[in-house]
Amino acid sequence: MRITAVWAREILDSRGNPTVEVDIVAETVFASAAAPSGASTGKHEAVELRDKNKRYLGKGVLNAVNNVRSVIAPALVGMEITDQEAIDRKLRELDGTKDKSHLGANAMVATSMAAMKAAAASQGKMLHEYLGGTILPKPMFNILNGGLHAGNELAIQEFMIIPDADQLSECIRMASEIYHVLGKQLVKKYGKSAKNVGDEGGYAPPMKTSNEACDAIMKAIEETGYKCSLALDAAASSFCNPKGRIYTIDGQEFKEAEFKDYYSQLVMSYPIRSIEDPFYEESFGAFAALKEDLHEIQIVGDDLIVTNASRLKEAISENSITALLLKVNQIGTVSEALEAVKICKEHDINIVVSHRSGETEDCFIADFSVGIDAGQIKTGAPARGERTAKYNQLLRIEERMQMQD
Ligand code: PGA
Ligand code: ZN
Repeated sequence: MRITAVWAREILDSRGNPTVEVDIVAETVFASAAAPSGASTGKHEAVELRDKNKRYLGKGVLNAVNNVRSVIAPALVGMEITDQEAIDRKLRELDGTKDKSHLGANAMVATSMAAMKAAAASQGKMLHEYLGGTILPKPMFNILNGGLHAGNELAIQEFMIIPDADQLSECIRMASEIYHVLGKQLVKKYGKSAKNVGDEGGYAPPMKTSNEACDAIMKAIEETGYKCSLALDAAASSFCNPKGRIYTIDGQEFKEAEFKDYYSQLVMSYPIRSIEDPFYEESFGAFAALKEDLHEIQIVGDDLIVTNASRLKEAISENSITALLLKVNQIGTVSEALEAVKICKEHDINIVVSHRSGETEDCFIADFSVGIDAGQIKTGAPARGERTAKYNQLLRIEERMQMQD
């Protein structure tokens, strides 16, 4: 089917900031997608276009919306909806920059995702079926927030749980129960305000150290009696002074070479299975050294790689990671994200599909994680609509797969 119309509008994301939503019509089908937005963004990410005027305190996206309506739409109308590579190539040509700052990565990614959804619809398929994947991802639930996502003093950004169950719906149920038990325990220990949540729906209690956070989570897991391991996203660039690479955490300062031992201690004390962005976003060597020390722990590159194929290749040749954190909006088009997926599969690198801290109700990543057989997904706490939108879509996909068995 050929693309017959492309339209865009400004909507709000989960933090109440404007973002771009794109609609695509291809003859008899329609699809819509919205761009998410990060807080702890990597410095090499594709650039989202913001109006930088009075509206929305500078964060308006009317220029990006206008780019979709007046530049992207006329160029895409008439193109075959299933030719994703040609569509994404056209977007890159129209943009003409390396960092997608001309049209805006927010305009481009929403268009690219909407095109892929419409392509699936044109064949009467759900997106994961269209992409051909069959594996439901193991979810990591971010139940305690720190760093740039919370108003507390925890340096580490995400304290996640990985419930140990074969079925996805069981993992979701276990995570929900642990989350609620944790909430009650936090209120008991820290008072009512401890139940307030951060950007990704995890609690944001007034804690000061990573040990305090891990202890609290372990206590909640214990009360439920479930088998469950932990995962961290340090997002370490947010507490690292790039000059001299000094890390400030738990009221202490660490040089990069010594900071490795901080993680070793945590790994010895808690059942941690995965650590994301343990070091500054240019520290390929420090990632590699930690990976060598903690060879049983998954080392995930997010800000380090920004879903960029050439940075991914560098990380692989430096032996820095065992997994890629995959965020489509970091690179700006679905085809480029698929290129990163291909490289991961060729080099035995795990894939964790990820949301952003600023999200919408769009559940593209849920379908996408199954479609590419990623194996893992992280999309926040098992609470707040923009997070549960993804988990709920995974529940639908699981049900559909069971019905087809
Ligand atoms: P961000 O955080 O969306 O604020 O970048 C999510 C993450 O680091 O994984
Ligand atoms: Zn991250």
